[in-house]
Amino acid sequence: MKIERNKNLKDYNQYGVEAKAKYFVEISTKKEIVDVLKSEYSKDNLLILGDGNNILFTKDFDGLIIKPNLKGRKIVEENDDFVLVEMASGENWDEFVKWAVKNSYQGIENMILIPSSIGGAVSQNIAAYGQNIMDVVTKVYAIEIETGEEKEFEHKDCEFKYRESIFKKKFKNKYIITSAVFKLNKVVKELETSYHERKSRYGSLEDELKSFAKEPYTIHNVMTAVINQRNKKLPSVSEYGTCGSVFANPTISKEKYLELSKIISELQSYPVDKLQYTIKEWDKINDNYVKIPAGRIIDELGWRGKWERNVGVYDKHALCIVTNRKANGKDIYEFLENIRNDVKKHYDIDLEYEINII
Ligand SMILES: Cc1cc2nc3c(=O)[nH]c(=O)nc-3n(C[C@H](O)[C@H](O)[C@H](O)COP(=O)(O)OP(=O)(O)OC[C@H]3O[C@@H](n4cnc5c(N)ncnc54)[C@H](O)[C@@H]3O)c2cc1C
Repeated sequence: MKIERNKNLKDYNQYGVEAKAKYFVEISTKKEIVDVLKSEYSKDNLLILGDGNNILFTKDFDGLIIKPNLKGRKIVEENDDFVLVEMASGENWDEFVKWAVKNSYQGIENMILIPSSIGGAVSQNIAAYGQNIMDVVTKVYAIEIETGEEKEFEHKDCEFKYRESIFKKKFKNKYIITSAVFKLNKVVKELETSYHERKSRYGSLEDELKSFAKEPYTIHNVMTAVINQRNKKLPSVSEYGTCGSVFANPTISKEKYLELSKIISELQSYPVDKLQYTIKEWDKINDNYVKIPAGRIIDELGWRGKWERNVGVYDKHALCIVTNRKANGKDIYEFLENIRNDVKKHYDIDLEYEINII
């Protein structure tokens, strides 16, 4: 374990922003975590960093950054129906999805190509194409920063909400996730293929599947369909600096939705707790609120493809802000605030950040 000083974070955040950490440590065992927590450095401000896919540094970090690099994958229980897999927090999410699909374990195939560590994925409660990580996490193990003790969080203790968990809000930088247990199906249940976008954009997952596979579809088919769709509309991290979607999809009342639908044609809506698009299927929405896609309203305001200095809105997806990796954190933040203010001015909607701003 080596504490580095004035560490350049450019290679540790997906925007490629230049920022420095006063202290920085990468740890690969639980004992190292406990040791660093006992050290004088941990009395400073703390930040836990995963793979930096959802963090924007607008300034240097005046404190200690801990990057848990714990590795390991273990099947902890198995029967004819399901398998419980414990994944260490420093493992790569995408590799886990590929491994699960290769072994015919179902439940996470729609979440392929989300750049993430396991720890970051749990903290952010990632989701894509109708699947949510919160539906497969049964347990999370984490070390409490104050005491250095490892605690076990049952699913209900994680307080998962849309793009949120107890580790992102209430216990932010108070616990270091060391591993999480996932329950995956061995007997394939219903595949999640209901996701769709406007026909004029990328259409439905079903259409994508039909274009190359025959029913009954396999989980490998679904994964491939998602890969095809994501490649068409999302920026590649090898080409751009990006954190993917920067704002959470806003929740609005049904009345407000109907009002907006009059001025934005084919405006999608979906249940507050799910990410399945359900255009006008009100019976499936059990309260008075719906989510609408933030990207759609940003698009309507003409931001898609717009660049200012080294920051722009990706031309195929208005919720993705991209950089040429020369932008500084302040410029990115200013650009994001301009979008937020524009949305507020035109639609009276307060966009909330999905990314973590430091
Ligand atoms: C191109 C692109 C596409 C994306 N697509 C999607 C998508 O489809 N769906 C989606 O949901 N997200 C998407 N994202 C967002 C992003 O991939 C996730 O938020 C990711 O889970 C962040 O993980 P990370 O390891 O990079 O964490 P970081 O960005 O480093 O950290 C994120 C948060 O997790 C905390 N954290 C990280 N590790 C730990 C730990 N071990 N213990 C405690 N806290 C921890 C950090 O403190 C921080 O609050 C996309 C991002 C990009 C760049």
